[in-house]
Amino acid sequence: MADGVDIRAGWLNGATLAENFADVHRPLDLAGALVEANRCYFCYDAPCIAACPTGIDVPGFIRAIATGNVTGAAMTILTENILGGSCARVCPTEILCQGACVRSNDNSRGDRSVEIGLLQRYATDHVNTATRHPFARAPATGRTVAVVGAGPAGLACAHGLARQGHDVIVFEARGKPGGLNEYGIAAYKLPDDFAQEEISFITAIGGIEIHPDRALGRELSLTQLRMDFDAVFLGLGQDGARALEVPGAGLAGVQNAVDYIAALRQADDLANLPVGRRIVVIGGGNTAIDIAVQTKRLGAEDVTICYRRGPAQMGATPHEQDFARINGVRVKHWLRPLRLDGLDGAVTAAVFATVAQGDGGSLMDTGDEQSIPCDMVFKAVGQSFVPLSDGGPDIAAGRIAVGPNGQTSLPDVWAGGDCVAGDDLTVQAVQDGKLAARAMDLFLQNLET
Ligand SMILES: Cc1cc2nc3c(=O)[nH]c(=O)nc-3n(C[C@H](O)[C@H](O)[C@H](O)COP(=O)(O)OP(=O)(O)OC[C@H]3O[C@@H](n4cnc5c(N)ncnc54)[C@H](O)[C@@H]3O)c2cc1C
Ligand code: SF4
Repeated sequence: MADGVDIRAGWLNGATLAENFADVHRPLDLAGALVEANRCYFCYDAPCIAACPTGIDVPGFIRAIATGNVTGAAMTILTENILGGSCARVCPTEILCQGACVRSNDNSRGDRSVEIGLLQRYATDHVNTATRHPFARAPATGRTVAVVGAGPAGLACAHGLARQGHDVIVFEARGKPGGLNEYGIAAYKLPDDFAQEEISFITAIGGIEIHPDRALGRELSLTQLRMDFDAVFLGLGQDGARALEVPGAGLAGVQNAVDYIAALRQADDLANLPVGRRIVVIGGGNTAIDIAVQTKRLGAEDVTICYRRGPAQMGATPHEQDFARINGVRVKHWLRPLRLDGLDGAVTAAVFATVAQGDGGSLMDTGDEQSIPCDMVFKAVGQSFVPLSDGGPDIAAGRIAVGPNGQTSLPDVWAGGDCVAGDDLTVQAVQDGKLAARAMDLFLQNLET
């Protein structure tokens, strides 16, 4: 390690770490849920329904809570979104359902939106822990489907198909199912092994087997899957990290943010996870916010996010940007990465050109440079889809090309979630998986043999 580079574990004691990585939102109790449910205006043609990518009947489930029918509320949610429990915790509600709530727009009275996410959590928690799965499976059809990728898209698709009586095998490249719910979402949004508990709930319907450590392109080929199964769903996510092409990107201490987050999510004891004293994060999306806040909460002294454009152009929502600042993260704008400096092979500073926006939105260097001393640099400049090498479906703009309901260029193959175009959100992946399952069910019903 270079002289002065300070990367170590155990900046904070166990109790402080436990507090820092505990549930970021306090769940509602019965009294709180009733108060919040009764704040809903139960609008006719409610805008929150259209703003939810899975189209949950929000006023319907809130009315059910208000009248004491919590199981009914959960069924309304789970009918549209079987991962309603994790969506309640991770959805950026401020730009989805709650952003559309008429109360959030009533600034004259200093009003605020109904806490739809917290109410959804209140209802789904009530059912997710029940011993019996709330949906019944249709009689077995004898049809089999391979779902590749056990993230939100694959799991939603698997549940939809199993519910119609088809047998589903989910093949997952990693050691555990869950996709980014298990390996990517910030630890304080889905604490306490929630991802695995929700998977137990989903698979309790029956007819779903999950085979971990089985990757398409490694142990499996699409050609073989198409021969062995009646249909295939690809929910592969985006496993490639975009490169940061600057000198010094190969220095020790420079890492992809998603890799570090995955290690953090899988750490048995956060007190043993090394982190730098001074961190620079390059990027402007939610991944940048997540790595910055989590390293700060691990005990890093100084964390700076550097983004090449202004606050309005950041992929992270204003709410997430505020969350970073509240957590002591510094956010700097108009900085283009120039190079990473190092000593004895380890990064010691990130150097940026100061930029300004020119005509037509292009960025121009102002001639100034900023060097930020650091012990670690996290690259959070975006994910990319890694195309299949073996007879995969058509690709458009770097992702799997799909028609309505996820149909690919191959007649028996569907796809959804982050590996297809659209919003890269958990709730959108669930909707893609749900719609694909409906289309695949029709296809399976019409198969001749
Ligand atoms: C750091 C980070 C934080 C995020 N935070 C939020 C958030 O707070 N809220 C939100 O709504 N969204 C968030 N997102 C986005 C959200 O997690 C994704 O949109 C969502 O997980 C997409 O689901 P998916 O099923 O398409 O893909 P994934 O969740 O990526 O799952 C894909 C699965 O396929 C597996 N797989 C890949 N290739 C193969 C193969 N060849 N063979 C077999 N299996 C394979 C992968 O291992 C993985 O398990 C975040 C994303 C990141 C990176
Ligand atoms: S799934 Fe997400 S967007 Fe839809 S109602 Fe629930 S919290 Fe809102």
